[in-house]
Parts: sequence; C-alpha cells; structure tokens
Amino acid sequence: MLKCAQNLRYSLRSMLVSAKNLKKSYGDFEAVRGVDFSIQKGECFGLLGPNGAGKSTIINMIYGATPKSSGELHVFNRDSFDSARDNKKRLGVVTQDNALDESLTVFENMWIYSAFLGVPTDKRRARIDGLLEFLNLSHKRNANINALSGGMKRRLVFVRALLHDPELIILDEPTTGLDPAVRHLIWGKVRELRDQGKTILLTTHYMHEAEVLCDRLLIMNEGQIVAEGSPKLLCKTHAPGYVAAFDQKNVPLEFAPDGFSVARDSSGVYVRAPQLDDLLRLQFDLKAEALLLRPANLEDVFLKLTGQELNKNA
Ligand code: ADP
Ligand code: MG
Repeated sequence: MLKCAQNLRYSLRSMLVSAKNLKKSYGDFEAVRGVDFSIQKGECFGLLGPNGAGKSTIINMIYGATPKSSGELHVFNRDSFDSARDNKKRLGVVTQDNALDESLTVFENMWIYSAFLGVPTDKRRARIDGLLEFLNLSHKRNANINALSGGMKRRLVFVRALLHDPELIILDEPTTGLDPAVRHLIWGKVRELRDQGKTILLTTHYMHEAEVLCDRLLIMNEGQIVAEGSPKLLCKTHAPGYVAAFDQKNVPLEFAPDGFSVARDSSGVYVRAPQLDDLLRLQFDLKAEALLLRPANLEDVFLKLTGQELNKNA
C-alpha cells in the first residue's frame, strides 16, 4: 500500500503534462475531440499528424494561449489555464510563427524578450551570447531581423525559447519549410537539449523527424489519437516488415495479394511484406524493379492507420 502511494507520488512528480478527455471546439467545429496523454520528465514526446490534426491547438492549450473547452489539462500538476502566468517561466515555446520584431536587431530582440521573461539584467548578455553561439548565430548578433534567412529566423526563435532555461521546451513544427542542412542542425540541438535532461514536446508532420527525435509519440488525425507508443513499437505493431515502392504504372489497381499490404499515394504504390525476400520475388511477378526497398517506417504506420496521404493538405 505504502509502496503503491510512493509510486503514485513519484509518477505524479515526473509527469509534466497530463490530459484527460481533453476537447477544444471553435464554434461548432471540434478541433480536439477528447484526447488522453501524459508527458514524462526528460522525454522527447511527439505529436504527429497532418495539417489540421489539432497539434497546435493542443500546444496552445498547454501554454495557456487558448482555453480548453472541456476535460482536464494539467501542466506542472496544475490546471494549465489557471497556472499559465507562472508556467511562462518554466516553459519555452517555439511557436509555429516566428513573430520576431523586424524593426530591431537580433540582439535587441533577445534582450527585450529576456527582460520579459525575467532573466536578471546582469545575466542577460552572457545568456544571449551563449545561446546565439549554441545555434550558430553569433555572426548575426547585430544584424537586422530582415537580413536573416528563413532558417536563421527559425534558429533565433529557438534562442528566444531557451533564454530563461525552461524545464519544458515546446517546439511547434520547428523545421517546416527549412532546408535539410538547417533541419539536421536543429535535430542535433534538440538531441543535445534532451541529453541535458530537458523535457521536449515536439509537433511535426514529418514522420522521419518524429522517428529520429521522439522517445514516444501520438499519431493524430482530425482531432483524435489514432496510435501511441515509441516509434519502434508503432512500427512493430502496425507496420512490421519491409516496403517496396513501385511506379503506379507497374502495379495493377486491383493488386492485393495475400500476405502483402498495399498503400497508394500520388508518388507511387507502397507494398509491405513481412520479409525482404517476399518483395524481391514480387519484382519478378510484377516484372518491374522496385524504385526503392526499405524497412517499414512511421509513414507506413500512418498510411495504414488513416488510409490517407500524409501531406495532402501541405
Ligand atoms: P495542426 O497544428 O495540427 O495543423 P491546428 O491545431 O492548427 O492543426 O488546427 C486544427 C483545426 O482547428 C483546423 O481545422 C483549423 O482550421 C482549426 N482551427 C485552428 N485554430 C482555429 C481558430 N482560431 N478558429 C477556428 N478554427 C481553428
Ligand atoms: Mg500547427
């Protein structure tokens, strides 16, 4: 009994966010339709789903930018909306929009924001310079915002989110629209933050990003959770095996042999089978070479669970 109470206390202490039957409506439209999840201290937790799935709405409720319609949402063990003011000091948010002041320099933007976040005056300069260095922006310290590339602005928003050394870092589509080099740089920084013991909540519509960064994730679609677990477990449970991608013209529309799963989207036909050998033999049967052969991944999980192309609204 005592041990049970201790375990409960421990799990409450290590839980930074918990949602139960959380809902959010805009007028008649239900954007979040009753979701349950929790985020544990020290993990990188992902909300994955296509545009319009409800990811930003959940994030906005977590940092108190918008109230929930019903259900429970606790952040640091208190109702998220009631504690939003206090939570500002413990949360760092990379919002989907950069919202930087274009009339100020990089340093001035960060100075004003660190004042707003309550970073002590004598610590501000070192903190800003340290973070500009961390995100490879020191050379732009005195540049105007409009002289920065899209990738630099995104990295600067990261700097801004970290100024007050928050416990929970929320990243809303941190790499959408960025080129691969910047994306990889940001992934490296997210990993470093997690290795430092920070808790991270990340939304993305890039399956690969979730696979690379997240310890655990929810896959969402139209305001609901369609699957939950580690990337490995999700693949093992929902889409085990290997996938061959074929050109549409090489696979008849009615093609659905036993033991194979078939998903189609505008870029091709994806055939999944338990063993690589099955796919190698399939090439002979179809008299066509696969465009690529690979282990199944989260994209296949998503296609299976929703039957839709992930980026159709992108
Ligand atoms: P995601 O971040 O997954 O792309 P959002 O949470 O931004 O999705 O949006 C979920 C749904 O709620 C979308 O259909 C969107 O159009 C709608 N929505 C978001 N914000 C508002 C709002 N302020 N008023 C009305 N509808 C909204
Ligand atoms: Mg969004």
